[in-house]
Amino acid sequence: MRFDEKEEKIVRQAEEVGCFGLVGGMAKNLRTHTKYYASSASKSDGPFYCEECYSDAVLRRCIDKKDHFAHKTPLSPVIPKGESDLHWQCKNSICKYLSNIFPSGNWAVERPIEKNKEKGIPDLRPDVSGRINGYPITIEVQASSLTIPEIVKRTEAYSKRKIAILWVVPLLGELLSAPFRPRQYERYFHSMYYGRIYYWWPDLGAKLVPVHYGVAKRHIEYSSWYDENRDFQEAGDYDKVYKVIKTPIFGEKLNIDQGFYYHKRDKFIPENERKEIPAGFLWQDHLEKWWE
Ligand SMILES: [Zn+2]
Repeated sequence: MRFDEKEEKIVRQAEEVGCFGLVGGMAKNLRTHTKYYASSASKSDGPFYCEECYSDAVLRRCIDKKDHFAHKTPLSPVIPKGESDLHWQCKNSICKYLSNIFPSGNWAVERPIEKNKEKGIPDLRPDVSGRINGYPITIEVQASSLTIPEIVKRTEAYSKRKIAILWVVPLLGELLSAPFRPRQYERYFHSMYYGRIYYWWPDLGAKLVPVHYGVAKRHIEYSSWYDENRDFQEAGDYDKVYKVIKTPIFGEKLNIDQGFYYHKRDKFIPENERKEIPAGFLWQDHLEKWWE
């Protein structure tokens, strides 16, 4: 593999994390705040943290990337590729629930919609689709392999048909209240729905849990040391807000038929993200802004 390919992988990883603080190959020691470079550091020089976002960092030596530091943070337990049973369980529970309440809503799982050549709308296959009080709705159960450009394309295609979209992120199990690092697509949905994301896990049946990504902090411990010139140095004893690690703030569990409304949203570029949210129709919850 060429050097710039290895470099590119590291940049792509940074974009997914949402922090470029480790791209240069430097991290600091958590206790002494001394700088270390991945090319010359060893594991025993740690524990490390990222100067930019204050997440823990780990030293990685891989074949396909040059020696580097990587962010080490917990992620939400999304359903991995190949676990299609749980995806089906999510789609089916939601479809069954909505069919019972709106028997004339024509609810279906993975119904094909033919493309419309004149309007330039591709063919679609909504995960769950039907009508609530006359409004056409699609519920898209995010598969972890879906990329941001695909999410944008799908959102736009449904909007051209004036179908409101509800993106759901299915999890293997309950989301815990401990801080974690949302993935790029989770942050994208969070922006799309005005600061919340809708999670599903098996115990919820046909309900969803809206989650706002709240602030998480790291306490930087006090430390003092003598540097290479034998000058006294001190640092720490303060709290720093993490840039990419968030504390989940849970909203009340919502039924898709009661907690939401048909909402037209304008085009929008979220703060700290380079990805534009297209204009479109959303199935948006009724909750107050972040319910705080
Ligand atoms: Zn960072």
